[in-house]
Amino acid sequence: MSLIDQIREANRQAVAERERRRALKAWARARAAGAVGEAAMPGEARVPDTALEDAAELALRPERRLSVFATPGGIGFTLLLIFLLAWPFALPGFDPSTFLEVQKILAAAIVVIGLNLIAGFTGQLSLGQKIFVLIGGYTVGVMTTRFDSGMLGNHWIALVIALALGAIAGAMLGLPALRVKGAYLSIVTLAFVPIFYTLFNSELFKPVFGGAQGIGDIATPIGNVARPPNRTVTFPFTGNAMTDIDYYVFLVLIFGLLFFLARNIVKSRWGRAMTAVRESEIAAKSSGVRVYKVKVAAFMVSAAYASLAGALLTTFSTAQISPESAAAIHIRDSFVYVVMMIIGGTGTLAGPLVGAALVSLIRVMIPKVGELISFDLKRWTTTLLAVLALISVVTAPAGTVGIINDRIARRRTRRRHRHPEPTPPPLPDSLVRPKPRAGAGAAGGGDVVMETREMSKIFGGLRANDAVSIQVRRGTAHSLIGPNGSGKTTFINVVTGVYAPEEGSVHFAGERIDGKPAFVTVERGMGRTFQNLQLWRRMSVIENVMVGMHVRVRSGFVGNMIRTPRSRREEAEIKARAMGLLQFVGLAAMADAPAGALPYGKQRYLEIARALALDPVLLILDEPAAGLNPAEVHDLMELIRRIKATGITVFLIEHHMDLVMGVSDRISVLDYGSKIADGTPGEIQANQRVVEAYLGAEMVEA
Ligand code: ADP
Ligand code: MG
Repeated sequence: MSLIDQIREANRQAVAERERRRALKAWARARAAGAVGEAAMPGEARVPDTALEDAAELALRPERRLSVFATPGGIGFTLLLIFLLAWPFALPGFDPSTFLEVQKILAAAIVVIGLNLIAGFTGQLSLGQKIFVLIGGYTVGVMTTRFDSGMLGNHWIALVIALALGAIAGAMLGLPALRVKGAYLSIVTLAFVPIFYTLFNSELFKPVFGGAQGIGDIATPIGNVARPPNRTVTFPFTGNAMTDIDYYVFLVLIFGLLFFLARNIVKSRWGRAMTAVRESEIAAKSSGVRVYKVKVAAFMVSAAYASLAGALLTTFSTAQISPESAAAIHIRDSFVYVVMMIIGGTGTLAGPLVGAALVSLIRVMIPKVGELISFDLKRWTTTLLAVLALISVVTAPAGTVGIINDRIARRRTRRRHRHPEPTPPPLPDSLVRPKPRAGAGAAGGGDVVMETREMSKIFGGLRANDAVSIQVRRGTAHSLIGPNGSGKTTFINVVTGVYAPEEGSVHFAGERIDGKPAFVTVERGMGRTFQNLQLWRRMSVIENVMVGMHVRVRSGFVGNMIRTPRSRREEAEIKARAMGLLQFVGLAAMADAPAGALPYGKQRYLEIARALALDPVLLILDEPAAGLNPAEVHDLMELIRRIKATGITVFLIEHHMDLVMGVSDRISVLDYGSKIADGTPGEIQANQRVVEAYLGAEMVEA
């Protein structure tokens, strides 16, 4: 099948899919209006089985391989590529200087796409991207000139090596990111720039890097550089010399491929993990995301992109490289890439390309404007760009594409308000019902799921937990109560691996787990919510739950990058399951809203759904009723009972006594870090010490 046929086929299927969806929606609407017989009766159980099967089948169907091209973004992207490919052959406006400029824009866009992955999506602002551009440039420089013939002197081999060296250097630069955060990280990455400049400049390595003169006569396609090149880039296999236009076609295709791969990453479980790291690292860890892996992977990919771009840039633009000409891009440092990212739209897909194009255009326009007003504006280019970046950050931090995306989202919300969508068709029970994970590990420990033995956590001199021994029995709801500051949150932070205890031990499902990192406790089956909500606010509701399933799926980074059938199947499965869990907590209708836009009470429910997504053996809730109104607390009590009924053990920290007494099988009480009581709700209410320490007047009156 030709590519066109494949696209057509994908389109046809997308249309068929839409029609099926519409039919399901119509059915749901009819049901809501009471037109479907069964729906008139009370209870959801009356939904016809065939409809459920339909819904399940629809929910579980993986995306088609080419379906991404049938979206507005996909069509725009395809048209852009076609336009770029046709330009030198069939379209007006082609002249050597514009041609060079367009190629530079594409190369810069590749750098910024990579930068956006690490800075925009993962939240680790690297100011060192220029280093990787140089590494790529020097790689083709050294290889194509120092090894004239043979494999190592081959331009295409050099590109592959540039990519690999970039990735390795990226991993190195990423290591500090595992220790330092925010502005400190940016400074560390910036510090790498002079180190590499010195390396490339030094007399010591002059035989390799050519010192301050750099390397000239790098292999280049015919036509781009004014004089005929000493070394030409040849086609692989045939060995014919390549013209600048041939090379341009290659550049456009590489650009398209890199854009597409970056898009796939962003839309995959890895992209969600990256955004989760950006929005709340502690929540990412508590959902089983290995933060260090995500950061290093993002650094590697972004550096590989920059390095490849540097190699391409050096090849087509000037065929020479030196530390001062700095890959010959007239862009003085990494800063300009950051400006491009910001102006285009940080954390958006199309932003890097738009930003690279806009900034390049401005750069070209500045001297022209200078001519008009008879002033040497060119020397002020960097300053003007800096001012522009300042203005952009202050007035429009979302960037060009970010603003457009916001507009579209707002219009969609308004439309949804006017024509509320029918609630999605109910999913079958297997998708909706939470379940404790099965398996050998999960069943360990016999009757006791979780246990601390004489566990102490000390902050400075403060014993936030002092020799606390608590046993949680399988299948029960166990509450931990105590005055503010008595060490309840600290207790679950130790249990879930956020902190290591100074004394004593923690056991989970028969295994000693104290001191193990948070993602291990998650993998063993502990899910938790946070007293201070830790949602990924800028991700959608359903995406929040899908990250919760991070540890339940296995598809790798590269698999997601190229959208293997397995990764697409997994994606469909976790999406359906996430939708099911949203139905369980009653948030299905808001699946696509940004999590930060939910009312407070619903955000608590979303955190619970996210924790349920990892099929927890033990669900730990830290003050879930805080900030809820009485009706919401009542709902929450129902929800906790329903969760317990599935066999999941619930560990609850709460102040709300009706809730605690209403759901708990056992209660433990902390005061000043020590456990002062343990027992059934009845025993606790009768315990004089507890009444004095905590329950106080409220319970005495009762
Ligand atoms: P609770 O959840 O019962 O209100 P916490 O566990 O949050 O109590 O806090 C118990 C005590 O430990 C408090 O005195 C608190 O100030 C202290 N504490 C908690 N976390 C830290 C920390 N990371 N560093 C220092 N002190 C802490
Ligand atoms: Mg607390």
